[in-house]
Amino acid sequence: MPARLIYDHETRDAKSAAAGPGSPGDLMNMDTLVSLSKRRGFVFQSSEIYGGTGSVWDYGPLGVELKNNIKRVWWRDFVQSRADMVGIDASILMHPMVWKASGHLEHFTDPMVDCRECKHRFRADHVDALPWTHYCPATKGNKFTIPAGEPCGHCGQRRSLCPQCGKGELTEPRQFNLMFKTFMGPVEEDAAVTYLRPETAQAMFVNFDNVLQSMRLKLPFGIAQAGRSFRNEITPGNFIFRTREFEQMEIEFFVNPNDRVDGRPADEYWHDRWIKDCVAWFRRYGLTDANLRLREHEKDELAHYAKRTVDIEYKFPIGWSELMGIANRTDFDLKQHAKWSGKSLTYFDEERKEHVVPYVVEPAAGVDRALLAFMVDAYREEEVRGEKRVVLKFHPELAPLKVAVLPLLKKRDDIVRTAHAIRADLAKRWRVVYDDTAAIGRLYRRQDEVGTPYCVTVDVQTVGDSERGETGDQKVTIRDRDSMEQIRVPIAELATVFRDLLDGAAWSEASARYPAPRA
Ligand SMILES: [Zn+2]
Ligand SMILES: [Zn+2]
Repeated sequence: MPARLIYDHETRDAKSAAAGPGSPGDLMNMDTLVSLSKRRGFVFQSSEIYGGTGSVWDYGPLGVELKNNIKRVWWRDFVQSRADMVGIDASILMHPMVWKASGHLEHFTDPMVDCRECKHRFRADHVDALPWTHYCPATKGNKFTIPAGEPCGHCGQRRSLCPQCGKGELTEPRQFNLMFKTFMGPVEEDAAVTYLRPETAQAMFVNFDNVLQSMRLKLPFGIAQAGRSFRNEITPGNFIFRTREFEQMEIEFFVNPNDRVDGRPADEYWHDRWIKDCVAWFRRYGLTDANLRLREHEKDELAHYAKRTVDIEYKFPIGWSELMGIANRTDFDLKQHAKWSGKSLTYFDEERKEHVVPYVVEPAAGVDRALLAFMVDAYREEEVRGEKRVVLKFHPELAPLKVAVLPLLKKRDDIVRTAHAIRADLAKRWRVVYDDTAAIGRLYRRQDEVGTPYCVTVDVQTVGDSERGETGDQKVTIRDRDSMEQIRVPIAELATVFRDLLDGAAWSEASARYPAPRA
């Protein structure tokens, strides 16, 4: 059994407990998150004006920027910058045989029960975890809601009926397939049945030979894809944590099972390597160490073909839950598709002069969950001069807006004009906004709340006062979100300063080079 790469759970919990309340992640509960998300344009309920759609969410103007940034840095770090990775963008609708071969048609199911009275549907394995409605015979049929798993305090009965209505009997459990079924072509008949993909992974397996031949790749190499998947979850929920339509960032990393690296089988070496790289990636973009842990799947919870699976878990407001999974799927998928398609899906090992079926390590992350974790971890409440400041301390690469340009006086045409010109110039490279709808203190707080790393203020000194014959200094103030420090920078140097800062340079480097504004 390979050693765990980061602390075991006990150490982890002790560590985060020691960090105390107010440490990253602890302040953001689900209600705060949902309300901030809606109020500031990150996430809206889908079709809200019609009462909403069950567990489907829409990303608003800031949410789409944040989500695109997450996908962009993931792609850059794991595909673009690596010589052993390539990408694809496959269709959501695939041949129905794909799901036969992958096992989804047969096994991608949850057991469910229905209430014969109220028709409510439950996951059979979740019913006992719900509080239940009870009409108690010992109290003339009074209605009670009893905590999950507990008997009635008056009559001692345990739940046997529907927990929702307390009246109906539940059906025997039936297997319910989680794939969304649809029809291909103009005829709704069985022969035309197909499915919305429940995962992006299968497209990498069925395109294995296309990619191998067209790109002339040598093992080990990986194929990556980011895209939408669909699962008709019976009990979705917890905001964007579990949704019926979601986005994945998946990698299938193929290795030669006969190779050894550092004295170990290549698949085992690469599995550990990917676990380490993925944890490092989440930390690099802002997740706190104390909010991350690894969870090794027990032997009895492993899929029958998986050699080993490790989840990276995050301390979400709902508790420790899976952020991503990294599985060693062996040669199962390629062998299945070779069997059902009749096409050979092998790799020719030049050295050993033999055909092998590669093993595959699969780092699979959910974009929506990553976004949730990044938001939760970035959230801070600080006290500044006796007032509460809410700030999302996003990594600059993830921040939906990079710079806000704010005029100090919106009645001065020359100030407003200059601010618009600065925005237009910076916006060639970054997402930059202009805002003059409030006083400067309030404008700063608005930008803090959505995590904008820098604000630029244009004031009277910048443009001067032509009526008095004064020319401006053509300098503006940059304010840093995290330290709230300010520096005075010539407009002509803004683009260069932001290129450094947004590329990762420390604020202290900029503040050492430029003076603070005169008070
Ligand atoms: Zn019922
Ligand atoms: Zn009772």
